[in-house]
Amino acid sequence: MKTVQDAFNTFKQMLVPLYDVQEADAITTLVLSELTGYSKAKLKAFPETELTDEQSEKLSTILNQLQTGEPLQYILGHTEFYGLKFEVNPNVLIPRPETEELVGWIIESSELPPINILDIGTGSGCIAITLKHELKQATVSAIDISIGALETAKRNAANNQVEVNFIHADILAHENIKLDKKLDVIVSNPPYVTETDKRQMHTNVTDFEPHTALFVPEEDPLLFYNAIADFATKNLNDNGLLFFEINESYGEETIEMLNNKSFINIELRKDMSGRDRMIKCGWASY
Ligand code: GLN
Repeated sequence: MKTVQDAFNTFKQMLVPLYDVQEADAITTLVLSELTGYSKAKLKAFPETELTDEQSEKLSTILNQLQTGEPLQYILGHTEFYGLKFEVNPNVLIPRPETEELVGWIIESSELPPINILDIGTGSGCIAITLKHELKQATVSAIDISIGALETAKRNAANNQVEVNFIHADILAHENIKLDKKLDVIVSNPPYVTETDKRQMHTNVTDFEPHTALFVPEEDPLLFYNAIADFATKNLNDNGLLFFEINESYGEETIEMLNNKSFINIELRKDMSGRDRMIKCGWASY
């Protein structure tokens, strides 16, 4: 693998048994761009650029890691979400494009005056940090049960130069969570993958991403949604909003649960793949 062009062809070819051609192409471009510091366009414009021995060696190491199924984002140690850069590691879920859509929905629904937002199960901090970045007037807090996740999220907030108040807490024991002020927005992308879903999932996900962030008991798929909704009934302001990312198989059940707990204006949205993926609802205590 002497030149960028050689490296591109060889690397991509080695990935084709593991990924579809388009994905192999995208991964190869990302890896080469990371290694050389060249943009996508520059890689294309200068295919004859020679790689150093060090770069070639690094390329082989990355290839070996990819061949074990390790996601590229963990190998590189970072990813992009809503145009911001986030550190990721096996303590946190890799941010998904569906979650960007959820964040977009929150931003378009939120009033500009200072509002108080809480993200439950923040992981890498991608939702909380992006919201604070986009809604500068907001006060944003975020909780997670995982210390490793909170440490990652804190670094991500610092690197993106936003202030988020991170709290170590378990939402399943939400009676213990005491806040100074009521909230205008609660958002969560909690674990929602059941054992049945797991069988259809790629091992790239199930072997590498944190199980506490993904899985929920088969017999209680709404475990986290119930707890968060109960917490929301006590901690949301009147006219406050609750946003969820959901399992596409449980849209109706989630709506029914929210109805039973007296949430109002419940709306379901599909993601870019046409699957039921997010819910927004309102709260009024009167
Ligand atoms: N959407 C994620 C996936 O497909 C799961 C996220 C979650 O459990 N909250 O892996």
